[in-house]
Amino acid sequence: MTAKKKVIIIGGGFGGISAAKSLANSQYEVTLIDKKNHHLFQPLLYQVASAALSPADISVPLREIVGHYPNILVLLDEVTNIDKDKKVIQCKSSKELPYDFLIVAPGSKPTYFGQDKWRQLAPGLKTLEDALTIRNKVLQSFEECEKNNSDELNFVIIGAGPTGVELAGAFAEIAYDILIKEFKNFDSKKAKIYLIEGGKEVLPAYSGKLSKKAQEYIEKLGVIVLTGDRVEEITDEYVKVGNRVIASKNIIWAAGNTTSALTKALIPDKEQGDDYADKMGRLYVEDNLSLKDYPSIFIIGDAANSKDKEGDPLPALAPVASQQGKHVAKQLLKEKSLPFQYLDKGTMATIGKYRAVVDFRGFKFSGLFAWICWCVVHILFLIDFRNRVMVFMQWGFAFFFKEKGVRIITENKYEHPE
Ligand SMILES: Cc1cc2nc3c(=O)[nH]c(=O)nc-3n(C[C@H](O)[C@H](O)[C@H](O)COP(=O)(O)OP(=O)(O)OC[C@H]3O[C@@H](n4cnc5c(N)ncnc54)[C@H](O)[C@@H]3O)c2cc1C
Repeated sequence: MTAKKKVIIIGGGFGGISAAKSLANSQYEVTLIDKKNHHLFQPLLYQVASAALSPADISVPLREIVGHYPNILVLLDEVTNIDKDKKVIQCKSSKELPYDFLIVAPGSKPTYFGQDKWRQLAPGLKTLEDALTIRNKVLQSFEECEKNNSDELNFVIIGAGPTGVELAGAFAEIAYDILIKEFKNFDSKKAKIYLIEGGKEVLPAYSGKLSKKAQEYIEKLGVIVLTGDRVEEITDEYVKVGNRVIASKNIIWAAGNTTSALTKALIPDKEQGDDYADKMGRLYVEDNLSLKDYPSIFIIGDAANSKDKEGDPLPALAPVASQQGKHVAKQLLKEKSLPFQYLDKGTMATIGKYRAVVDFRGFKFSGLFAWICWCVVHILFLIDFRNRVMVFMQWGFAFFFKEKGVRIITENKYEHPE
């Protein structure tokens, strides 16, 4: 009997988990390795940061998702290097594992455009730890104002992509709607929420019409939108944007992403880096998602620069990663190379309660109906039935009773890994 071929999947996010599920009960011996023990539904991370949901509502242990399949081994470890010629990966635990096929799906992380000292001052939103850090900081600031009889409270969110807009909307809801009745010495309506965008408009990746609509909605909620100026300085007391200095101890970074350090291990020669990776560090892939010159290594999700029909890079979105994971598995199951084609499922962002913008294959709409679509899609795409029920219940409760159930301050210090 011949030994089963080994497939290693690095990362149990949207890309990795869809590849693993598609390879369940197959002819391959699959190992899924992740440095976290859970799959995380990142699109709802901002709701953990704004105390609407608990961490467990949007995450599921990887072992629970695929650990019961006889041909899938789940390992909690960090992959630190890939030896492409020997076909071996190295882990932080010093474990070395050989592979026949490698699926690389380590996602991305926030980039501070060379200003790494800002990392500690302005946390990004990528992991559950990040979300809890932001939640703690924000809730603690309200408490400080109550203790000191102060109405001076500024939140600054840098970057007005979907994450920035969604966070700003959620903070406005907390400050201007939910907490208003609970403080005695502090008027939470006086808190200021700034949303800063270096480009000309909010949601720059959406059309002009939807960007304008989003800005109108977010300003109606009371958020101050500043566009066209880049952040020049961040300290633990203020942010400097153009000529303006905004005092704040609550600065959140939602301005840009780069790929994980691991993708660098796949670039053969640093001198030739530009031939292999784009400015965000995403690796260029062949039509079938394999790495140039290495047909047994596939790069998927946020780590890949894979092109659409027009030759533009596909966006860093969950459906892109999921479809790519499935596609790589399909090629392995059929043992033949097939070009990848992305089926565009549209993009959407919510702005506070009751408002959202949706771009569904050129059909653009906004408002209450868009918000209902946003809610339905996000419930449906949560990976686990329990998560769907929990999130549905939490949202129902918040909708009818205007409550944010998870306003708990816990002790944890922000230390963002490099
Ligand atoms: C706050 C936020 C909001 C978002 N909102 C939306 C949205 O509304 N709609 C949408 O479509 N997309 C959204 N996205 C983007 C979407 O989440 C990503 O495009 C998607 O998660 C990419 O999938 P992936 O599999 O490439 O990586 P990820 O899902 O990020 O998974 C990567 C996995 O790899 C693991 N890993 C990383 N490095 C290593 C290593 N060296 N060793 C072992 N494991 C490793 C990580 O722990 C992680 O589990 C959002 C992202 C964020 C951060």
